[in-house]
Amino acid sequence: MKIHNFSAGPSILPKEVLEKASQAVLNFNDSGLSLIEISHRSKDFVSIMDKAQSLALSLLGLENKGYKALYLQGGASLEFLRVAYNLLEQKAAYINTGTWSDNAIEEAKAFGEVLEVGSSKKQGYKFIPKNLVIPTDIDYLHLTSNNTIYGTQYQQFPEVNAPLICDMSSDIFSRTLDFSKFDLIYAGAQKNMGPAGTTLIVVKESILGKVTRHIPSILDYKCHIAKESMFNTPAVFAVYVSMLTLSWLQDLGGIAAIEKINRKKARLLYSEIDLNPLFSGYVAKEDRSYMNATFNLTDVTLEARFNEMCKEGGISGLNGHRSVGGYRASMYNALPLESVGVLVDIMSDLERKA
Ligand SMILES: *Cc1c(COP(=O)(O)O)cnc(C)c1O
Repeated sequence: MKIHNFSAGPSILPKEVLEKASQAVLNFNDSGLSLIEISHRSKDFVSIMDKAQSLALSLLGLENKGYKALYLQGGASLEFLRVAYNLLEQKAAYINTGTWSDNAIEEAKAFGEVLEVGSSKKQGYKFIPKNLVIPTDIDYLHLTSNNTIYGTQYQQFPEVNAPLICDMSSDIFSRTLDFSKFDLIYAGAQKNMGPAGTTLIVVKESILGKVTRHIPSILDYKCHIAKESMFNTPAVFAVYVSMLTLSWLQDLGGIAAIEKINRKKARLLYSEIDLNPLFSGYVAKEDRSYMNATFNLTDVTLEARFNEMCKEGGISGLNGHRSVGGYRASMYNALPLESVGVLVDIMSDLERKA
């Protein structure tokens, strides 16, 4: 049976990417060696890293604009700390739109004053706070573009007179944006671009080097830039698979092409959620995420039946985050429109039979 993988992360990757990756694990480029048993300093791997970095910049439209792309370890969670270590001297502003923003705020507090300029925490993170007053005397503004757990997403970003830092872990490469508005973007690979184990960081070099504290090498963006992501052994497999996924995206026509499909998928699912009386969306409509759609059954007694129907239909990974409950359909780049179609058919089937 075909499985439709709606997992929030680690999550679905294109089948052809998985096939190429499997082959490379057994015999990389007909070398008789596995990709994961060769030196990261070999020509073969260095060219993979170069390609992964240049693909990230070119897909985002950030080539020759003073940005560097890095592939580091530690997940997005380490960037919560590393961002503050490298950039927070006096005070920084944060917008709290979900668990991940909240964690970023907690980490930053060790380095300076943290102003929470907007928050929807008390309202269960059901919306994106808007019309915020953001002070100008800040080192940076940090926000999370897509809230993986609750299912909200920025449709319009606040204007700010300071470096803009964004955790894009769960929607990077999913929609066209003017990425040059951002001074530092980071994303754990395992949501929309590869396996767990590496984090993409795209940083405008000119914002670095301004804090007075000593930064340990492994936490210093400048050190990683100087060593081209090879200060220590990179997560070779995760970087390779990310590179394959970005090549797949480029061959498809880049972000603009995938955005069209992503919008179609989201429209299809949200219109079912809105039209079917057995379901209700969790968050404010205008802030709905195109990547992670969260919803609940209006009649909980139908839960066992709906879950069974999903299972029979090959729907996998639809459970909501353990902190929210309900359902969450993650529709990352590699999830085909057809899979959303299968889910929507099951939802309308439930209505017919209920
Ligand atoms: C998953 C996720 C994280 C955490 O990523 P790790 O790689 O597990 O540290 C952070 N931010 C967002 C938006 C996420 O979706």
